[in-house]
Amino acid sequence: AVVVENLVVAYGDHEVVKGVSLNVRKGEKVVIMGPSGSGKSTFLRSLIWLVKPKQGRIVIDGVEVGPATLAKVRTRVGFVFQSYNLFPHLRVIDNIVLPLVKVHKLPLSEARERAMEALQLVGLLDKANAYPLQLSGGQQQRVAIARALAIRPSVLMLDEPTSALDPELVEEVLQVLEDIARRGTTMLIVTHEVDFAEDVADRVVFFENGKIVEEGPPEILYNPRTERLRQFLRRLH
Ligand code: ATP
Ligand code: MG
Repeated sequence: AVVVENLVVAYGDHEVVKGVSLNVRKGEKVVIMGPSGSGKSTFLRSLIWLVKPKQGRIVIDGVEVGPATLAKVRTRVGFVFQSYNLFPHLRVIDNIVLPLVKVHKLPLSEARERAMEALQLVGLLDKANAYPLQLSGGQQQRVAIARALAIRPSVLMLDEPTSALDPELVEEVLQVLEDIARRGTTMLIVTHEVDFAEDVADRVVFFENGKIVEEGPPEILYNPRTERLRQFLRRLH
């Protein structure tokens, strides 16, 4: 579970997240939407102090995020970025194994086992020995998802995982994420994919100007209460 209380994040004097509170239950899927620049990425990143918050409290799996706990907390959180960030000179399997061995200190044999298991989950077992550049963008992003899953995260955070993909590759990645969601993983996902949000989200959170201005079940995507969400959705359809 993730508990966020009154989080404030700033770049210098520029406040970008302006007092956000959010409670994500174990196993819950929360989709974050909102216009460009509303602070979605900053919010997500700040939860594991990739950007250090100015104020507020974050508790992940019962552990309050702070200087003393940060390293440990990060080993429990899987993070998938918009661009896949794979090492081009390493085979797919080694892209997954390396962090497990170096960061998570797993024995090589167990790391390889977990990597193969994660590749199976994303449907890429047959690409284990390929190099990233021999894969399509959608396949590369599935490897990045496998890498995040292989650490067996208690929370999986994804920041626009399909926005860098060509349209015909988006669906395969969303399909993999739906499968993962069904396995009960706690997920926080920034995305503009309305159909996906409808299928997967337990809750949709709408960001505007550093604040949550509307939240509720996926039905709010069809029946927004605020004019702002209505306008935002009109532009997506
Ligand atoms: P998008 O939908 O375009 O990804 P977003 O909702 O994720 O937008 P953020 O990337 O969190 O928004 O940016 C929020 C604000 O913070 C923007 O005004 C942006 O210019 C600013 N910002 C983001 N990253 C930095 C940074 N590293 N340094 C300074 N300002 C930043
Ligand atoms: Mg962003």
